[in-house]
Amino acid sequence: MIRILTLSLLLAAPALAAPGDADDAKAMLKAGIGFATVKGRGQVPAYADWLKSRLVAGGFAPGDIVITPAGETARLHLVWKGSGKRPPLALAGHMDVVEANPRDWTRDPFTAVEEGGFVFGRGASDNKFDTTMIAATLIALKRQGFKPGRDIHFFLSGDEETSGATAAAQAAEAKAAGVELLLNGDSGGGLVDDAGKPLFYSLSGAEKSYADYALTVTDPGGHSSRPTGSNAIAILAAATAKVAAYQFPAEISDITRASLRDAGTKTGGALGAAMLAFVANPKDTAAIATLRASPDTVGQIGTTCVPTMVSGGHAENALPQKAVLNVNCRIWPGVGLETVRGDLERVVADPRVKVALANDDFHSAPPSPLRPDVVAAVTKAVATARPGVVPVPGMDAGASDSLFYRAAGIPSYGVSGLMMRGEDVLIHGLNERVPVAAIAPALVHWRVLITEMAK
Ligand SMILES: [Zn+2]
Repeated sequence: MIRILTLSLLLAAPALAAPGDADDAKAMLKAGIGFATVKGRGQVPAYADWLKSRLVAGGFAPGDIVITPAGETARLHLVWKGSGKRPPLALAGHMDVVEANPRDWTRDPFTAVEEGGFVFGRGASDNKFDTTMIAATLIALKRQGFKPGRDIHFFLSGDEETSGATAAAQAAEAKAAGVELLLNGDSGGGLVDDAGKPLFYSLSGAEKSYADYALTVTDPGGHSSRPTGSNAIAILAAATAKVAAYQFPAEISDITRASLRDAGTKTGGALGAAMLAFVANPKDTAAIATLRASPDTVGQIGTTCVPTMVSGGHAENALPQKAVLNVNCRIWPGVGLETVRGDLERVVADPRVKVALANDDFHSAPPSPLRPDVVAAVTKAVATARPGVVPVPGMDAGASDSLFYRAAGIPSYGVSGLMMRGEDVLIHGLNERVPVAAIAPALVHWRVLITEMAK
């Protein structure tokens, strides 16, 4: 036993986490929560400076880490030079967090509180958890003399929850540096049951893109006592009903085929059977109808668009001069925003209704291929951190920074090291928290993942 252990330690250098690593990472996470990196508060640069000081204390040269201001926020870029055996690898996370109102929280959201086995605070999970775990792992590896076989770039963005401008800039930097693929700590991850037994792990290989479209009707209007037969609100109402009733074509990809097959087996019942029937035949209309009827699966089989806001008219006693509908779309990876705009125009089929993207901030990106090297490394990382779990490829309904990298042609994978109970997933919500017990496995996860991908 001892002999085998010694051998495996020799072979598997560097060793897994040292005792105390998890305590250090926890202290780092708690300190990080203390920076209120909400949009508009100007705290991201301070958090970036602090992270840099930690990385420098951990052995990186100050010149290896560049912090670039961007208005009141900033982005951080660490380069760890490798032997150049393979093209560079990138790791990513984000430093900003969504707003939290202290009046609504049980504890101050911007002072980390450890209580009942949890660390509470805004950003405890999204995304200071994985950002901290990656930084702590890089520091540990550096200290132990790990020599990467390829350059490792670590990109931390500063406005993921809002505009995504810093990630867009970093995606361009990654492309220019020849980065081959990105591992993002801001998506993927898994769930455990109440006893801490792992249930599943999702390796996120695609994200739907988000876009809002404005449907606008304008009319000369007039006095409400003299109806003209042309009414902007009535015209928009008819268009609204058509959009609400429309179903985009059913779609399937390598990623959703794998995730639906896995979920179908685990879910069982009519819904599980429909998932498996759809995987076997993506044109099975009965299966499609069943999957569309469930909010849990409708988004996994195609683009969805729903009316979400409406405004119109300007006085009780005037014919409306304008009516506007917002249609929110979650677009299948790889489908262009203009294609969806054209679909909405065709569905409405009324030239009086103008259909336009609500603004220019939206982007679409293709899914990433399921690279065997990534699948193998994530499988090993997850199995080492949480024995018994096999990652399943998944598609996220929301968008992360990965969207910008994928749009730049860099395959990107959501590979968070965080696994916790479903009821502890309070991302963006009140009393956001992570279990202290999730820290040690996350360090193992990132260590195996980084050493496997950069050996
Ligand atoms: Zn996030």
